[in-house]
Amino acid sequence: MNGNWLLQKGNFQFPILNLLIAIAYAIGVELSRKFTTLPGEVASVWFPSGMTLALVYLLGNRVLLGIAGGSLLAISLSLLKIDPPTSTFNFLLINAGCALGNCLQPLIASYSIKKFAKYKNIFSHVDTVLLYVVAATFSPIISATIGMFSICLAGLASWNNYGISWLTWWIASALAHLIFTPTILLYNKSRKVERRLNAWEIGLVLISLLLVSWVGFGYSYRVEYLLLPILIWTVSRCGTFFASLLVSVVSLIVIFASVQGYGFCNKASPNESILLVQSFMATFALTSLILSAVFDERTEARLLLMQSIENLESQVIERTAKLQQSEIYLKQANLELEKLVNIDGLTQIANRRCFNDRLRFEWERLSREQQPLSLLLFDVDYFKCYNDCYGHQIGDDCLKAIAQAVEQTLHRPADFLARYGGEEFVVILPNTEINSAIIVAEEIRMAIANLEIPHQNSDISDIVTVSVGITSLIPSPKQKSEILIQQADIALYDAKQKGRNRAIVFDK
Ligand code: GH3
Ligand code: MG
Ligand code: MG
Repeated sequence: MNGNWLLQKGNFQFPILNLLIAIAYAIGVELSRKFTTLPGEVASVWFPSGMTLALVYLLGNRVLLGIAGGSLLAISLSLLKIDPPTSTFNFLLINAGCALGNCLQPLIASYSIKKFAKYKNIFSHVDTVLLYVVAATFSPIISATIGMFSICLAGLASWNNYGISWLTWWIASALAHLIFTPTILLYNKSRKVERRLNAWEIGLVLISLLLVSWVGFGYSYRVEYLLLPILIWTVSRCGTFFASLLVSVVSLIVIFASVQGYGFCNKASPNESILLVQSFMATFALTSLILSAVFDERTEARLLLMQSIENLESQVIERTAKLQQSEIYLKQANLELEKLVNIDGLTQIANRRCFNDRLRFEWERLSREQQPLSLLLFDVDYFKCYNDCYGHQIGDDCLKAIAQAVEQTLHRPADFLARYGGEEFVVILPNTEINSAIIVAEEIRMAIANLEIPHQNSDISDIVTVSVGITSLIPSPKQKSEILIQQADIALYDAKQKGRNRAIVFDK
């Protein structure tokens, strides 16, 4: 069983919870009186205040009965010890005033923190730490004012001492809020945060702490400033909870040592001593709280930064993949476009545009090399009649079959077939002399004839035939490539004139 388990909601029925709180409160009062009271009978830290704020903050109003009960128990016990005994009225007056003050103090502090805190994790942000410090510091004014008023009214303290007693009450409670409440509140969180602590680091902190305490309190050397690096180390390496725990432990050491008359706070005057103890503990606690918040904010900012970098990286990867995909689509689209621009839709061979480019290219190349370039222009015979007889659709199929057959006839990679227009086709034969061109022309004619596509309306055959115009020359830079087409066209016309279904060479 540990303290945290005690604080968890639902582990106790309401009466048992409040009874335990009342007992713990009374014990806290006794401990404060016994161990934190410096020479001069003044408690430097009021433990119960540290406990009540944590309880109300964690468990809400349901603990108020226990707090009031604890206050009644502790005060009644001390009032009963007074000789001569106090009157019943004064007994009730002091009890009522102190119980009211002790309940209002954590209630108002907790309400203010919850109402104004922007973050739930109040000790992880500087803003909320400052809010906590303000609430923790000012809320004891309420209990000190009401409590001391009832005590003075009952005549247990003189009105002359009201100011100094009020101040002591206030500071002792505020200190407990600053030192012990964060440790209790953070204990819950420290277990959720998976922090891997090295045993040697904890050992080093403890040894340093003992060493500084020994030198500082054992030999009364002013080495309390050495606690600061230990605190910074603990905050940065072990986190907010352990830093807060360190503050609590150091505060306990300082208080106990001072009460025993050791240490730098041991001054001749009790008031001086208490002020030194309190100011040291307040500085140490505030430094720890703010430093912890700064470290936590830095850690959170670093985490956020890393997350955004990761997000950014994954976005870059995602976008790069999309870009690569778009590039692939673009390349495909370009290929498609190129095909549309250069390929004839019906026969799927090169179109007129593509032919023009190729002819120009070969013309320039062969004019440089001074090598022969041959051109065949062939035209389907009586194709109009073919369409008339078999229909346009069959006519299209015929043109496709002719294109395929001619393509298979061409063997050299540089040989190039294109649809010139309508039922006319053209073949570029680079590095080919006239005799070879004639052979290719005859091969083409035979390949088409071998298809044996019936053509009953042809005047010269009962199958589809073609007439071919052949021309060949060595290109010259002075001439234009169009001359080759003109010559092939003349030869083709000649072939038609001479009866069709034949190949004729251009005759100069
Ligand atoms: P010739 O022997 O003198 O060449 O006679 P022809 O009938 O073939 O000549 P003409 O120029 O009079 O007719 C060409 C015909 O080719 C006309 C047209 O209907 C047909 N034609 C042109 N392009 C296509 C096409 O893409 N598909 C089909 N089915 N027919 C076409
Ligand atoms: Mg024609
Ligand atoms: Mg024709």
